[in-house]
Amino acid sequence: MQDIPVRLGARSYRILVGPGALSRVGAELAALRVGPRAALFSDAGILARHGKTVRESLEAAGFEVTVVELPEGESAKTVAVAERGWDALLDAGLDRGSTVLALGGGAVGDLAGFVAATYMRGVNFVQLPTTLLAQVDASIGGKTAVDHPKGKNMIGAFHQPRLVLVDTAVLATLSEREYRSGLAEVIKHGIVLDAAYFADLEASRAPLLAREIDTVTRAVAGSCRLKAHVVERDEQEAELRAVLNYGHTIGHAMEAVTGFARWTHGEAVSLGMVAEARIAERLGLATSDTTRRQVDLLQAVGLPVKGSGAAPAAVVEALGRDKKSRSGRLPFVVAPEIGRFTVVFDVPRELILDTLQELG
Ligand code: NAD
Repeated sequence: MQDIPVRLGARSYRILVGPGALSRVGAELAALRVGPRAALFSDAGILARHGKTVRESLEAAGFEVTVVELPEGESAKTVAVAERGWDALLDAGLDRGSTVLALGGGAVGDLAGFVAATYMRGVNFVQLPTTLLAQVDASIGGKTAVDHPKGKNMIGAFHQPRLVLVDTAVLATLSEREYRSGLAEVIKHGIVLDAAYFADLEASRAPLLAREIDTVTRAVAGSCRLKAHVVERDEQEAELRAVLNYGHTIGHAMEAVTGFARWTHGEAVSLGMVAEARIAERLGLATSDTTRRQVDLLQAVGLPVKGSGAAPAAVVEALGRDKKSRSGRLPFVVAPEIGRFTVVFDVPRELILDTLQELG
């Protein structure tokens, strides 16, 4: 089991990565000396697969467990569902020393984290991520949220978990599309943060796609370590953490203009990374070889690198509404070479438009 620290002073925690991690939850939580009551948030499908393992581990360590079943996917992220969560915690008598656990993808983690952040002004929170995206991204860093009719993740709080257990064996049941989408974030970490990690991914395409457990565990642990470093240096997303937006500026605009229906998030991020790599190249900040390596790896793992379907002009218009804009200036994260990043402002509109036309 790989043991990755997230050093945040009094809010520090560990990420444990490896097959079988879920069965350790009871012992690891008991070691944190929290109160005896716990609530396990998850959806029906995930509970059917992994609920028993988690529950038995917690009960064997002396915890009294209440299960809170959530609707599947993004539909869990509403204030109404959060309210049902608060009700369940009150009914079960959870107090300030109690623990909320999230077993599932990023949606379960965001909703359960939001409930944990707000119930009695904040209780212990444990992340048990079961999708690749949640394992390498959403479960680390303490961002929690529900959606608002006017926008995703509009209502939320920073609330760090006390512990993250990443069981890489559970990825076996993930759909091919969900798995490949998660790989977009894995590859992103390599492109902007670590050349050696990226090279390892390039060399491991086949076992990674075959979900060979040692390769997957090495890739997931490497990604968790990279994200943990970023979070340690910029907990509240003031500056550095923006590096994680690589591919997301254009990717998000493409998702928005296609009503979040055409691509999964990871697919849109893949297209966004290709576009942002070409923008760096057009600005004279990166070589064509840096773009080529990104495109090759994304394509090799089955992610889209060409995108028709989002009108370039509409995408540019959506970029104008990006909430990352500062006084009307939109920051773009670019990779001058694999493993490094820089932020540029004032990218000419025509250059973005040409890049998007080429992408289509
Ligand atoms: P998701 O949580 O919607 O889960 C996708 C589907 O996978 C669900 O149907 C779920 O039941 C199923 N599933 C989960 N684990 C499974 C497994 N092991 N086997 C088979 N099926 C499984 O999707 P996601 O991609 O994990 O998360 C997306 C959410 O994460 C979005 O709401 C996004 O806003 C959020 N997010 C949050 C952060 C953050 O820092 N808090 C970062 C990135 C994304």
